[in-house]
Amino acid sequence: MSELAALFSLPALLLPWYEANKRDLPWRADRQPYHVWLSEIMLQQTRVEAAKGYYLRFLEALPTMEDLAACGEDRLTKLWEGLGYYSRVRNLQKAARVIVQELGGIFPTDYETVLSLPGIGEYTAGAICSIAFNQPVPAVDGNVLRVMARLQNDASPIDDPHVKARVRQQLLEVYPEQAGSFTQALMELGATVCGPNRRPDCALCPVHSICRSYQAGTCERLPVKSPKKPRRTEEKTVFILRCQDLYALRKRPKTGLLAGLWEFPNVPGRLDTDQALQQLSFWGLHPSELFQTLNRSHIFTHIQWNMDAFVLEVREPGGELEWFTAAQIDENAALPTAFRQFWEALRHV
Ligand code: SF4
Repeated sequence: MSELAALFSLPALLLPWYEANKRDLPWRADRQPYHVWLSEIMLQQTRVEAAKGYYLRFLEALPTMEDLAACGEDRLTKLWEGLGYYSRVRNLQKAARVIVQELGGIFPTDYETVLSLPGIGEYTAGAICSIAFNQPVPAVDGNVLRVMARLQNDASPIDDPHVKARVRQQLLEVYPEQAGSFTQALMELGATVCGPNRRPDCALCPVHSICRSYQAGTCERLPVKSPKKPRRTEEKTVFILRCQDLYALRKRPKTGLLAGLWEFPNVPGRLDTDQALQQLSFWGLHPSELFQTLNRSHIFTHIQWNMDAFVLEVREPGGELEWFTAAQIDENAALPTAFRQFWEALRHV
């Protein structure tokens, strides 16, 4: 059987399996475009199990696109706290504002218009148009690329944009009428039976009869990825400053990594105690007690932060910092995971 002929039988093999085996997930309760969109953005950065709680909390707080468009920045980032990639939730809001203010509050159904919205790329546009509007548009993510590489016993690197474009074109040719279910079935196969970082469950796989890597015994060697560039490391000294029941935070710059989020004050480089005290006096702060030091790392996609933190009591709040109670930090301030890990550590002292 030729490659494409084998792929033509993919929907017939996959759809009944999906209907019988699909997981019960909150975003599958309906096909509203806002819900599909939100879940897809969340699933780009966290596991299904973790996304469930975020998804339900987000929709409880912001049940409509109008609510999302009108939400204040701090509340919005707080709802995203812990998910990372905060630019995604800002883009979600920008796109909601375009829909509410320029498109009459109605989610566009045309693929090109969906693709033109802030933060929506080919994958998300494909997922929305196929799942919410049942259009035959592929949504090609890492899961789908892995399944397709294995199905075709293809050792081309799946992070090569040409490979992605080829897979998208191949899928376009075989999309069935049940476009939304097919998109989800492919995703489901790639997330479960033909999952990442482990041996695929080929014996349970509905498409093993057309899978070339299964026949060749090469499933576990696929997919292939290009070698990664090494991560850059940055050293930082973080100050967790307490004044009675208040703690100091400041906002990060409006652009760049973790833009506009809250952070514990910090400086580049690893300071010793004397240098740290000098830094405090530069900020106009006078420490009365040094409680402890902590060390933590945080890995972003391209950078690793290695951080030493001083936990200090100061005599008076000040230093062009903003001072909050612990409850205010917990309830209102979106503290990215890089800094939140210090906060969690303090709670367990
Ligand atoms: Fe993946 Fe195995 Fe199914 Fe092939 S047969 S698609 S490798 S689970």
